[in-house]
Amino acid sequence: MGKSLFSFLWRWLIPNRCVFCSRMIPEKETLCPACSKQEKSYLLTACPKCGRSFSLCTCHASPQGPDLILYPFSYRKAPISAALKRFKKFGYGTYARFFSLHMARLTRYYPQCEEAEVICAIPVHASAFREKDFNHAEILAVHLACLLKKEYRPLLIKTRKTAPQKALTAAQRRKNLHNCFSVNGPVPSVVLLVDDITTTGSTLNEAVRTLKKNGAEKVYCITAASAI
Ligand SMILES: [Zn+2]
Ligand SMILES: [Zn+2]
Repeated sequence: MGKSLFSFLWRWLIPNRCVFCSRMIPEKETLCPACSKQEKSYLLTACPKCGRSFSLCTCHASPQGPDLILYPFSYRKAPISAALKRFKKFGYGTYARFFSLHMARLTRYYPQCEEAEVICAIPVHASAFREKDFNHAEILAVHLACLLKKEYRPLLIKTRKTAPQKALTAAQRRKNLHNCFSVNGPVPSVVLLVDDITTTGSTLNEAVRTLKKNGAEKVYCITAASAI
């Protein structure tokens, strides 16, 4: 079946649904009217751990790490974590539109993001891509690039499979991820790196380390939500 026929059928079979409650909504919307009223209460304007503005937060700081980590939502809020889990599983476009819009809005408060020449995403291993046929972080990055009128480029590749991070300690996470990324061509000096969730920051740290080792001077990171 051709891709366009498939996506037509997909849209017909799976109508546009509210990102939080899955009620059917008009095509251009991302939330139903009831959920729209809740939206603001899930938004973050500062780091929930230290209370500082994102540009002053050092919760994830490491010498070769990100120069900034931004995230519009808290993963601790049930509708947000449930929505991100569905997005990760199915890659729904409505979810990408919803999260990338809030990510784009947040970058406007951090003018350094303007300097980014390219937007890239945390990659998945080729075997994971074959399984799902999409990388949800890449879908977010492509939407964000479109909103910020920047170029999306897949700067990173994942060169080996890694164990799931969930059950690991911070030190084990670092070891698990060590040298799991490589670059896919020249790296510009300022990059905006996208992922879905910031947990301990170890994935972002490793990706930023790889980008900086290969020529990036500043790497600003943005995720849809933070689990801290
Ligand atoms: Zn709803
Ligand atoms: Zn902090």
